[in-house]
Formats: sequence, structure tokens, C-alpha cells
Amino acid sequence: MPVPLVVWIHCEPGDRVSIAGLAALVGAVAARGGHATIGLSPAYAAAVAPSLLASWAATGHQIGAHHHGYFARDLPAGWDGYSDTGAAAVHPDTRGGMADFANRLAGVGVFADVASVASAGFDWVASATHEVTGGAARSAPMPATHGTYLVTQITSAPLGVGQSATVAAHIASEVALCLPSQVVCVACHAHEISAGELGVVLDAAIAAGAVIVRAAQAIAEAAP
Ligand SMILES: [Zn+2]
Repeated sequence: MPVPLVVWIHCEPGDRVSIAGLAALVGAVAARGGHATIGLSPAYAAAVAPSLLASWAATGHQIGAHHHGYFARDLPAGWDGYSDTGAAAVHPDTRGGMADFANRLAGVGVFADVASVASAGFDWVASATHEVTGGAARSAPMPATHGTYLVTQITSAPLGVGQSATVAAHIASEVALCLPSQVVCVACHAHEISAGELGVVLDAAIAAGAVIVRAAQAIAEAAP
């Protein structure tokens, strides 16, 4: 059985919008017969041409949400402006609560049924059914709660700049060890990782037996 590898592309808030960078990463996944999982905030989603979003969705890539909460480490520049926390509600940069977050994504054709979050444990999207957090590259999909919301959680290993050889070896070993109940996930930032760097990791993973599938498919295929 091929091992499901999820490639989670985190699109960062603030001034780090890189449509060309995002497109290059999606292209690197598609060139290897795979489907990317893309996480967008409402502002980032609005910056991507609707025709581009539609073409990604139509060709099988997963377009979900990426949220940086009010208490993200890099506040205020790294906050996406949405939160249900009391302190954020009165902050001058507040754009709305998490219901607004989901509604504004839906308004540009993005549905927050799959998401990654930088504020684990609070501020979740009511419509989210799957979630990705940092952590181990290999995990079994697990039930988790965010506030009052129940989601299915997997973890991901980050690919940072200059780390492609190290991460490629790590991901390949995780693919080799992956149980039928588990999925492997690597995460990278659209604004800083090149298609070449991601490609090194993908080629090593594929050589080890992985197929790159969207997050929802990987979670669905992992045995309970
Ligand atoms: Zn992020």
C-alpha cells in the first residue's frame, strides 16, 4: 500500500503573501502526480485570483484555512485579525471573530473544512473537521477539541529554508515506518520555500513509497 503523504502549504498572514511562491509549490506537487493541501487566511485568499483558486480546486488540490491567533508568537504582525478571545475583540486590528473568518473564506470559494492553526486550543472554525498542527511527521488521525469544536488532528514536520536534505531523509524514514493507521505530513511556508527545496523532500518520500494526497483523503484512508 502506498503511504499517504500530506504536503501542507502554510500561507502566512501580514505582508508575507506570495502568490508566485504558492503557485510554484503547488506546481512541484502536481508535477509529481500529487495533490497539495493549501491553507489560507481570508486576506490571503482574497489576494489569490479566483480563477487560480478554482483551477487548483478543480484539479484536486485541497484548499483550506490557515489561522494565526491573537496570541501567536509574532503578534501583532503575525496575527490574521480574527479571534474569539476577549482581548482580541477590542484590539484595533480586529477584523472579526472566527465565524467571520469562515464566512469570509467561504465568500471567495474557500471552505474551512481543513485547517492549520498557530493557536492550538482556542480560536477554531466551526466548520473545520480536520486540523494540522506542528509536531511529528507521522501520526494517527486523532480526535481533538478546540473550544467547543471537535476536529480530527494530524501533526506535521516543518520544512525550513536550507533544511531540504535533512527533512528529506527524515520524511523518507517516516514513510518507511508509517503504519496503515497513520499519515505522514510535511509543512512549508509559501513565502520562503522554493519548489526545488520542496521537490527534494517529495522525491525522497516518493522513492520511499509515498503518494502525495490531500489531507482529507489521507485522513479518510488511515484505518481507525
Ligand atoms: Zn502560519
